[in-house]
Amino acid sequence: MGKKRAIVTGGSRGIGRSIVVELARNFNCDVIFSDIVFPNDDIEAVEKSISEEAGNPEVKILAFKADATSFADAEATVKFAIENFGGLDILVNNAGITKDTLLMRMTEADFDLVMNVNLKSVFNYSKAVIKPFMVQKYGRIVNMASVVGVIGNAGQANYASSKAAVIGFTKTMAKEFASRNITVNAIAPGFIETAMTDKLSDAQKEAFLTAVPLNRMGTPEDIAKVTRFLVSDAADYITGQVIKVDGGMVM
Ligand code: NAP
Repeated sequence: MGKKRAIVTGGSRGIGRSIVVELARNFNCDVIFSDIVFPNDDIEAVEKSISEEAGNPEVKILAFKADATSFADAEATVKFAIENFGGLDILVNNAGITKDTLLMRMTEADFDLVMNVNLKSVFNYSKAVIKPFMVQKYGRIVNMASVVGVIGNAGQANYASSKAAVIGFTKTMAKEFASRNITVNAIAPGFIETAMTDKLSDAQKEAFLTAVPLNRMGTPEDIAKVTRFLVSDAADYITGQVIKVDGGMVM
């Protein structure tokens, strides 16, 4: 297997960061990670710290500032990847946000923003990579959904809809591009320890944990390892699937 080249959206922290490190360290993969905001606007500092964490001098890890809700930014990210790596094999659509509140209080702006970041970004990046993937008759796409896209969740009408839509998008793309050896799968994480779940109160966290048979929150690494599997040769015959990584929360 030659060295692979990947884009990970929303890769500077949380699950995305862990995926960048996993692909670089354990899949010997060059990685571009995009993000909308870099702390102190210091892209190089984030690039350096992720590269140090990955600890693999054989691969390049490059940051690219891009708003995943913008199609032009998605195209620019893909162009940057191809210019730097000479091609692209893997796309991980990871960028996502929450704006939780009950429907009674949810504003149109909260709904639109979550849809744009969580769903339209998947359209933007998938469309931007699809031509090179089709030409080379190879591509691996992993979309970050959520178990709430499968079961729903009070207070997350916007988020759960966006993740359900990501699942529909994944299955449709899988059918459209299977003949070109492009696989498209989704991961549905359960309750994972990141800034996104830090917002929850201890009582909310405890309530969630009662529903998790493995009785712990997931780690970003739990998601990153499954992402590595889905882009590896071991998953060549898997497409259109939604893999729940949730400690058994939804069966
Ligand atoms: P996180 O720690 O909040 O990180 C989200 C990442 O997305 C950040 O790097 C953020 O960038 C980026 N992002 C936000 N808006 C963006 C935009 N417009 N353009 C580009 N990047 C943008 O969240 P996480 O927990 O790692 O979540 C990662 C993915 O997993 C999301 O799709 C989320 O819905 C999904 N997920 C998470 C959980 C969980 O329990 N944590 C469960 C199920 C699914 P900035 O740093 O620039 O803001």
